[in-house]
Amino acid sequence: MERTLSSETLEKIDQKVKLLGWAATIRDHGKITFIDLRDRKGIVQCVGQNFPKVTPESVIEVEGTIVKRPENLVNKNIPTGEVEVKVEKITVLTKSTELPIPIDGDGLEIEEPARLKYRYLDLRRPRMSRNLRLRSRATMFIRNWLTERDFVEVETPILTKTTPEGARDFIVPSRLQPGKFYALPQSPQQYKQLLMVAGFERYFQVARCFRDEDPRADRAYGEFTQLDLEMSFVTQDDILKLTEELFTSLVKEVFPEKKVSTSPWPRISHKEAEEKYGNDKPDLRKDKNDKNELAFVWIVDFPLFTEQTKEDFFHGAGNAKWVPSHHMFTAPHIDDISLLDKDPSKVRGLQHDLVLNGYEVGGGSIRIHDPEIQKKIFDLIGFTSEQKREFEHMLTAFSFGVPPHGGIAPGIDRLLMVILGEPNLREVMAFPMTAGGTTAVMDAPSQPQDAQLKELNIKVTSK
Ligand code: ASP
Repeated sequence: MERTLSSETLEKIDQKVKLLGWAATIRDHGKITFIDLRDRKGIVQCVGQNFPKVTPESVIEVEGTIVKRPENLVNKNIPTGEVEVKVEKITVLTKSTELPIPIDGDGLEIEEPARLKYRYLDLRRPRMSRNLRLRSRATMFIRNWLTERDFVEVETPILTKTTPEGARDFIVPSRLQPGKFYALPQSPQQYKQLLMVAGFERYFQVARCFRDEDPRADRAYGEFTQLDLEMSFVTQDDILKLTEELFTSLVKEVFPEKKVSTSPWPRISHKEAEEKYGNDKPDLRKDKNDKNELAFVWIVDFPLFTEQTKEDFFHGAGNAKWVPSHHMFTAPHIDDISLLDKDPSKVRGLQHDLVLNGYEVGGGSIRIHDPEIQKKIFDLIGFTSEQKREFEHMLTAFSFGVPPHGGIAPGIDRLLMVILGEPNLREVMAFPMTAGGTTAVMDAPSQPQDAQLKELNIKVTSK
C-alpha cells in the first residue's frame, strides 16, 4: 500500500490507508488507545485497541481506515481534526527512549546548551520545523525572483584570502604550502566585484560568511548567510529600488500575514537618523505591539570614514587615523571627492544600510571603480605596502575595463529573525553554534591528531 500523509487524510474518508511517522503523543485509556501520529505535514489522531507497547517519539507504521469524527469530537485546533484513523495494525519500526528535552512547547524556556546538543530533536518542535520550512521557501522565492530578472547565481571560494569586513578572520592551514594559511571569507565582496569585471552584470549568491567576532542575540558566532548581490551600470537608487521590490514581493508571497508599514520605504540620511533617533537603526514601526508590522527604512549618506579604534587595528585595518565605516571598496560621494585630500571626515560614502524594525538587516554601496581613487583610500586608511600588495589583484583587475558597479548584502538569518519575530538568530538556523563557539551536536572545535598537525607543520604550544 502506498503511504498516505497526515495532510491527505481529509480526502480519504472511508478508505484504507498506511501512515508512517512518529508517535507524538500516546493516551492510553485502558481499553482504547489514542496516538497522534506526526509526519512532515502535521499530525493525525489514530485510535484502536490492544496496541503493542509504543513509547513516545518511536517511529511507527499504522494501517487502518480513515473515519469522520462525530461532530462533538472534532478537534478544531488541528487541520486533520475532523477525522481519525481506526487502526487495524500498528508496527513499531524503531523505538525511542525518553527524550532529554521536551519538544512540545516553543522550547524557549529550555537551556540553550541542551537544545543545541540535541538539535535534531529540538528541530522536531513545530515552531522550529516551521521556521526552517519558511526559510527554505524564502530563499527559493528569492532565487527564482532574481533568476527571472537575469541574475546569475555564482558560488565563490570558501578557502580564500582575507576579505575584511571589520571582524577577525578564521584561518585554515595549508598542507601544500607549509606555514601559509587560507582565510575564510567574511563576505564574497572581492569575488563579486571581480565577477562584474568578468561581465556578468547581475550576480547573486546565497552566501555563507565567516566572522570571528563576539556573538550577540542578533549576531551569530562563526558563520551566517547573506543574500549577496552585485550589479553593473547602476545607480544607488537602482539598488535600493530592486531590493525594495524583491522584499516587498517576498513578504507578500511567503509571509502574507505581515504588513509592510510604509511604501516606498523612507530614506533617511545618517546624520538625520543620529539627530532624530539617536542611532543609525531606528525602529519606525507605527505600533510596536503589532507583531505583524514590518517597518523597512534606508539609511544613506554615511560618512566614508570613522576614527580608528584598537579593535579595528587588530582586525587588519591600516595604521592611519581613519577606517572605512563600511568597507574599503565603498565609493565616496561624487561631490565630496575633493574633500578626500582636505578633510576626510567630511566625505560621504555611497553606502546604504537597510534597517527593519530597529535591526540592521543589510548593507551595501556603490563601489570604487577608479584604481586611482582606490589607491587613495588605501593610503588614507594607512595601508602598508605589504597590505596594499594583498589587494593588488583588485587594482590589476580594474585596469582591464571595469564597469561601474554596486550592490548590497541583506543577512538572511537576521531578516528572518525579525520577520518571524524570533528573539534570537539561532531560532532560524538549523545548526547554529553556542555562544561559546562550539558547534551544535558535534562539539567542534576539537583537537586534531598529532599526525595531522605534523603534516601541517604546526606545533600547538599550551598558553
Ligand atoms: N560585503 C558587504 C557586507 O558583507 C556588503 C556589500 O557591500 O555588498 O556587509
